[in-house]
Parts: sequence; C-alpha cells; structure tokens
Amino acid sequence: MNQSSPRKLKVGRRFLGVRFINCMTYGRLYINDTGNGYSGRCPKCGKLYEIRIGAEGTSERMFAAYC
Ligand SMILES: [Zn+2]
Repeated sequence: MNQSSPRKLKVGRRFLGVRFINCMTYGRLYINDTGNGYSGRCPKCGKLYEIRIGAEGTSERMFAAYC
C-alpha cells in the first residue's frame, strides 16, 4: 500500500462501511489519495465501487451498493 500521507489525513486512512447487496456481504471503502472520494471492492465478486465526496463532505457512514 501507499504509505505517503497528505497532511490533511492526520488520523490515518478513513473508511466507510458498505453493504454489497447482491453478494449480501460487507466491505469497506477507503478514502482515495486526493481525498475527494472513497473506493473499494466487493470482497466476493470484486466489483469496484466508488463514492465521490461533495464540497460539504458526507455525513453518511453506511452505504448500500449494488455489485
Ligand atoms: Zn459482489
């Protein structure tokens, strides 16, 4: 993994929990290098899922994804 961390990420890599509906499993989306979104893969089928963060950020901490 890339260990170079921008200054604004001071508490380590943030992540969101996501529930992959089709595989009925649970995974994590990690914040990307530019800090403007989260991305991760379904642990079962491997489909990539991405969320972009708006200007105000997102207050959601759980997402449901169709994979
Ligand atoms: Zn899946």
